[in-house]
Amino acid sequence: MQITDVTQYHATHEMDGAFHPTWIPGFAQGSHEAELFEVETDAGITGVAAGPSLGGLRYDDQLAGLLVGENPHDMRTVLGKLDSFRLSGPRPWHVEMALWDIIGKDAGKPVHELLGGTADPVPVYASTGAVMDAEDRIEYIDEHVVDEGIQAVKLRVTELDQVDIVREVRAAFPDLTLLVDVNKGWAIRAVEPEVEWSYKDALRFARQLEELGGVGWLEEPLPRHQYARYAALREATTVPIAGAEFNDGVGELTEFVRQDALDVLQADAALATGIKRAVDIAAMADANGTEFVPHTWTNGAGFAANLHVMAVAGSPWCEYPLEPPWDPDVVSFFLEESFTHKNGHVEPPTDPGLGITVDWDAVDDA
Ligand SMILES: [Mg+2]
Repeated sequence: MQITDVTQYHATHEMDGAFHPTWIPGFAQGSHEAELFEVETDAGITGVAAGPSLGGLRYDDQLAGLLVGENPHDMRTVLGKLDSFRLSGPRPWHVEMALWDIIGKDAGKPVHELLGGTADPVPVYASTGAVMDAEDRIEYIDEHVVDEGIQAVKLRVTELDQVDIVREVRAAFPDLTLLVDVNKGWAIRAVEPEVEWSYKDALRFARQLEELGGVGWLEEPLPRHQYARYAALREATTVPIAGAEFNDGVGELTEFVRQDALDVLQADAALATGIKRAVDIAAMADANGTEFVPHTWTNGAGFAANLHVMAVAGSPWCEYPLEPPWDPDVVSFFLEESFTHKNGHVEPPTDPGLGITVDWDAVDDA
């Protein structure tokens, strides 16, 4: 089998209202945009992939220049070519999921099954995306988490004194697992620069979370390349430390494992590694005693790719983005079916390949 073409499409979804993602300081996000890729083969099998949009930047011709003529089953060669692309181009890791889509469709099996996983449901945690005052957040948790049968929620705070929000939420829900993401690992400087935390800031915050109890993890309290400081923070607090969602490539992720710098490694297959290397890194993390719970907040294709990885890695949680107007239908706006939880669990797709179907009516230039 040979790859015969790579074609890129742009998809935009106008949301019903806006929210203020903590990873784009000062920005009111009113639309969800994605870049879709179709990888075609001479066997008549087409794979799909999607990644974040950088103002509609197109690079399908450049990808085609490297990938056309290659066998999609030859993952070593294809990943080597994506490594070459990355030397001077944008992150191409999401494109690799299209090759797994092809391999799975060719075999008539879902990706997780090819990689040794099962379709067992994975517990979700409701992942918020904005800082919200305690009163509104408590209302949100009642409606979207507790009443829905979800067992954990991830709060967003960006400033040290916002530990008060976590404290009030803890008081309202003494038994709920709370995860706390402070988004200091990376940020998009579209409007305002991010405010970084020092090691001492992060430690002070972690110590306050220790007192609250029941905090499942503290996520990205430090910039994403400060491996040694992450390791030191882990040593200094009993709160588990999570991170690495947007580190770039297997080398950076290996560094977190090598330095024993995290309790929970969150490498996103669509942003950081591709599926194959996410599974490899998850195995390395497991051997080190590090949990693997990938970030999923990109789009429906990225969610599917990471869900297949979770099914292989045995991840204890699945990140379920939920911050209205951002909901499962917004996440998967260009798919025929959204990923919705049942009783606090999501099921890995069982159709061949990624197990997703693009709704081409939702794609701008299809
Ligand atoms: Mg995060």
